[in-house]
Amino acid sequence: MSDLQKLIMLPGPTNVSERVMKAMTQPIINHRGDGFRNLYGGIIDKTKRLFQTEQNVVVLSSSGTGGVEAAVWNLMRPGDLAIVPVFGEFSSRLAETVELAGGTVVRVEAELGMTPSLEQMEAAVREHPKFKALYLVHNETSTGVAVQYVQEACRMAKEHGAFAVVDAISSLGGYSIPVDKWGIDVCVTGSQKCIAAPPGLALLSVSNDVVKYAKEFQPKTRYFDLSRNAEYAAKGETPFTPSLPLFYALNEALNEVFEEGLENRVARHGRMSESLYSGVQSMGLKPAAAKEVRSRTVVAVSYPSGTDDLLFRRTLDKEHGVVVGGGFGPFSGKVFRIGCMGLINERFVQRTLDAVSVTLEKFAAT
Ligand code: PLP
Repeated sequence: MSDLQKLIMLPGPTNVSERVMKAMTQPIINHRGDGFRNLYGGIIDKTKRLFQTEQNVVVLSSSGTGGVEAAVWNLMRPGDLAIVPVFGEFSSRLAETVELAGGTVVRVEAELGMTPSLEQMEAAVREHPKFKALYLVHNETSTGVAVQYVQEACRMAKEHGAFAVVDAISSLGGYSIPVDKWGIDVCVTGSQKCIAAPPGLALLSVSNDVVKYAKEFQPKTRYFDLSRNAEYAAKGETPFTPSLPLFYALNEALNEVFEEGLENRVARHGRMSESLYSGVQSMGLKPAAAKEVRSRTVVAVSYPSGTDDLLFRRTLDKEHGVVVGGGFGPFSGKVFRIGCMGLINERFVQRTLDAVSVTLEKFAAT
């Protein structure tokens, strides 16, 4: 990618290689023919490796939110109880989605910049042992924090006969999430984050238990019916018309993931986030998240007091071609967020740090 191009350092969508972009120009084919079955079959094999599962995976032509809605509407029925840690915008939306489906939510809350503790989760489970599902956002993109006890929380859910659902939209690929080993029933990710494909696809792992449940107790959704999607996926098809250009792009992006190797990719995300954290700290800036829960895919940074958020981000963009994200809710105007995802490398990190440093100096001088 030429340095003259904009550097998209958002917490998704993120930079996409030319090779992946070009893949989208392949011809439109019959989605009920062998060509598509080969394409989707290959995507499924690679997606299983990505989720480290031998159970089912599906790709939905929707953004990540569609995947989260599928995970909710397939499992929750009116009156069902769900435990949901809430510690930012996306976990809060997840709790609301469960309520939209008629579920009752036990919110386990933490202040922004933190996650609820494992002890809080254990207390919630003790108090509400008959919960139907745990819905956990792994990486809270709005605040740049990551839950450190995904495996333990999922184990707790399984011990209580509950489903364990993980929103790993902004983390899978930057973190290793071994779905089968950790007992995750549904894990959701988005194409536009650590996989470095264009936005518009949701990738889900779906346990055999969930397929069985959704088949027996039909969900009130046709498009997002996971048992139907899984049945079609097993024969290399989607129940409805897939977004073909995005499937081509995803296939190529997954090829890039496994050419690098998942372990190497995860390690690279770790190294690059360390460089970003130490770089911003050496400028005297403070990460918004508590050290022990800092995300390696979203680096949220508190502004020095008095910094104009919009002007700062506009200057980064216009004068340096570096695009970063703003804050959400109570963090709005107070933090900026750097995506450390996908193709992230030393050059991207340095260009971003240089742009932040020069811009802050310029602001301090005026
Ligand atoms: N959940 C998390 C943790 C996210 O980071 C996002 C998007 O950033 C979403 C859900 C929603 O995904 P999408 O915008 O792809 O619908």
